[in-house]
Amino acid sequence: MLKISDGQHSKTTAAPRFVEVALPIPLRQTFTYSIPEEIRDVIKIGSRVLVPFGNRPLTGYAVAIHESLDEKLGLDLSAVKPVREVYDADPLLTKEIIMLAKWAADYYASSWGEMLKAALPAGINATIETTIRITEEGIAELKANPDKKTQKIAVLDFVKSNDDSTIKALKKQFTRATAQRIVAELLNLGFIEKIQKYLSTSVKPKKQKAAQLLKTDFAADELDSLTAAQQEVIDVLRNEIGTTLLSELIEKSGVSDSPIKTLKKLGYLEIVKVEVRRDPMHGKVVNAEEQHLLSEGQTSVLKEIRSSIAKRNYEAFLLHGVTGSGKTEVYIRAIRSVLNDDRTALMLVPEISLTPVFSKRLRGVFGDDVAILHSSLSSGERFDEWRRIRSGEASVVIGTRSAIFAPLRNLGLVIVDEEHDTSYRQHEMPFYNARDIAIVRANQANALIILGSATPALESFHNTQTGKYKYLSLPKRIGNRPMAKAELIDMREVFSGTGKDSILSPKLLEAVEETQKRGEQSIILLNRRGFSQFVLCRSCGESVRCVNCDITLTFHKRDQTLVCHYCNYRIKSPTICPACESEFIYFVGEGTEQIEDILKEKFPDIRLARVDRDSTRKRKQLENVLARFGNSELDMLVGTQMIAKGHDFHNVTLVGVVSVDNGLSMPDFRSAERTFQLLTQVAGRAGRGKLQGRVLIQTYHPDHYALQHAKDQSYEGFYKQEISYRERMHYPPFVALASILIKHPNYNYAYDNARIFRTSLDSANKNGNSIVLGPAPAPLPRLKGEHRLQIIIKSRNRKHLREMVDFGAKDADTRSCDMKIVYIEIDPVNLL
Ligand code: ADP
Ligand code: ZN
Ligand code: ZN
Repeated sequence: MLKISDGQHSKTTAAPRFVEVALPIPLRQTFTYSIPEEIRDVIKIGSRVLVPFGNRPLTGYAVAIHESLDEKLGLDLSAVKPVREVYDADPLLTKEIIMLAKWAADYYASSWGEMLKAALPAGINATIETTIRITEEGIAELKANPDKKTQKIAVLDFVKSNDDSTIKALKKQFTRATAQRIVAELLNLGFIEKIQKYLSTSVKPKKQKAAQLLKTDFAADELDSLTAAQQEVIDVLRNEIGTTLLSELIEKSGVSDSPIKTLKKLGYLEIVKVEVRRDPMHGKVVNAEEQHLLSEGQTSVLKEIRSSIAKRNYEAFLLHGVTGSGKTEVYIRAIRSVLNDDRTALMLVPEISLTPVFSKRLRGVFGDDVAILHSSLSSGERFDEWRRIRSGEASVVIGTRSAIFAPLRNLGLVIVDEEHDTSYRQHEMPFYNARDIAIVRANQANALIILGSATPALESFHNTQTGKYKYLSLPKRIGNRPMAKAELIDMREVFSGTGKDSILSPKLLEAVEETQKRGEQSIILLNRRGFSQFVLCRSCGESVRCVNCDITLTFHKRDQTLVCHYCNYRIKSPTICPACESEFIYFVGEGTEQIEDILKEKFPDIRLARVDRDSTRKRKQLENVLARFGNSELDMLVGTQMIAKGHDFHNVTLVGVVSVDNGLSMPDFRSAERTFQLLTQVAGRAGRGKLQGRVLIQTYHPDHYALQHAKDQSYEGFYKQEISYRERMHYPPFVALASILIKHPNYNYAYDNARIFRTSLDSANKNGNSIVLGPAPAPLPRLKGEHRLQIIIKSRNRKHLREMVDFGAKDADTRSCDMKIVYIEIDPVNLL
């Protein structure tokens, strides 16, 4: 870190230089600062810099450096402030990533600085902290008063011996009031100074103690005087090159640390601190891949991919491979080809639940060339992986969403597995879809991109029809294993037959029993979490709703609470209706806990685990359950969406889907597509081994086309029907979509601002090129105490849509629209 004394750039004689800084604030512009002479040569494009903004310092990103300000005519030079500090002489961001973030910010109508912040690993964007340092005068004062025991001297002494003491540390040492008073006094006297320091405590390289021999050649009898333990230590060290971690040394030599200490005293070795890598896999790696003989389908797909790799040009492929068709094997070989070509590869995977499986496999194949990036890494692990990528040590990256910004150089291949997955979408500012950025990144790098899925997003499949993507398919499972047989169970018939609202139909229960008897495994999927969807009063018909969000609370049986799954509001579950005080309240719907209870009661011997966000808050817990299921230590998994995707368990022959219907009734134009994808994915978990799989889907809407096509496992059938609906109703991919969400605790305030925005949009849409809808209450009209209004823009012309949004935002701002409560989302994935 470099500290700038007090950048009075006007006093310097050399030609002033300036830097454009992108700041992580929701303003879509960059800011110009002057560069003090001391850091002229240090600051580079991509450096993080501390700059004054308003009355606070902000960390921003240097995106351009100018010799002079010719290109910024009209800028008032005297108002240009100097950069305060620069954090990296060796920038964390590459130019490629800076430009990619620029593209993304423009495309998604968000700020460049916010996008750059999202591009860097979390934890590195740490905060600024004020620290205190002793001055020359302070040191002189200390020297002049060696024996004086005043508090002032004590504080000075503390500051001197503790580099960069924080005010907090001082308060701890000297009590709050004293610290405050004396610090003020010492500052006044000029004995100490305040420094704003970038706080990187959480992301420093990790160091550990290691031993190193000071001498390697020993005379024949030189070691005879040493004890056996000491000789053992020296033996181990002589076999190592360089340093050996103390922990390793103790393990290998089988001694305690006392002989090591003695050897140090005797001058045989020294103890040094060395940097150690925080490995997200903790060194656990599965055995290197056994080489499969490629199937015919895999062979021909790979042939196309390899010939494209050889061309070193941008090309996009949609790899549509049914579940169990061996897509992973294709990815691995494609990565290998790119590495052999001295280029790098980036693979995106959807969720944490998938990363351990994939990353272990990739680690097994590519070893330390692989870096792993996902949100449940510690910031230390993430920081280390990131630096390995930046330095070129890692040439393959596997990661979730934000890994699309990994600073790989010389990129040859991007893979987006399960490209239809909604977890590629960032649901907070800055909104972006990593799959779509991936296309642009590959294009800019002249790289190949493979989007893989068993159920491609409608937009992606459509792109193969228009020729934007090349279509590759793996229509058959490995070994020509049959797809699982799917059946729909009409729950209306079950109801009229039994007269009861059963949760598990007799047919499904029977199938569970048979599967259990055969010693095979089953998966039961429920499309939601919690015990029961909601609590309903039979007298007044009211359900219990969240006070902040106006959505029904979910009943959790284990702790007898009602919980809001949006804002986490919880109450004890009531025994009388909060609305009419009737006692006749009851629980409607069903949840994973309830199904777990029913199954345990019916089949006491079944070894069952529940997998949902409640039961698997911790990554380890989830990994553990999946591993036990994989080892056949469990017979059954009951769970939500988490168990539907990606996993490759060979002994699963039954998949039961308990409730899909609520997914169909979501107020979202993609609800049919989501349901179809979920059913196809979960059906793909069955029959992956030698045994035929069976899928039973319970529904009250057996005639719905999403269910019919899912039953027939016909993607094409579903696509045809869905695409004509999208065209008829003006939905993507036939139009570009933007949603403007206006949120505020006061409804009228939100509404008034929404009206202003709508007016601005209308004036940008005089020719009627786009359709503007709203403001209307959003599908979730109240959330976390805020009212939510939505304006939707649809346009056949994306450029026009973007211009409208930009013009609308500017115009609304001049009409005093409160832009702080306006959230613009381009290509929204969920209309919530
Ligand atoms: P997908 O991702 O398409 O659902 P996977 O890549 O998980 O499919 O492959 C399914 C299974 O087939 C895995 O167990 C994998 O190891 C195995 N497999 C893949 N390719 C081959 C092959 N050529 N020969 C034999 N087994 C294969
Ligand atoms: Zn709530
Ligand atoms: Zn009531």
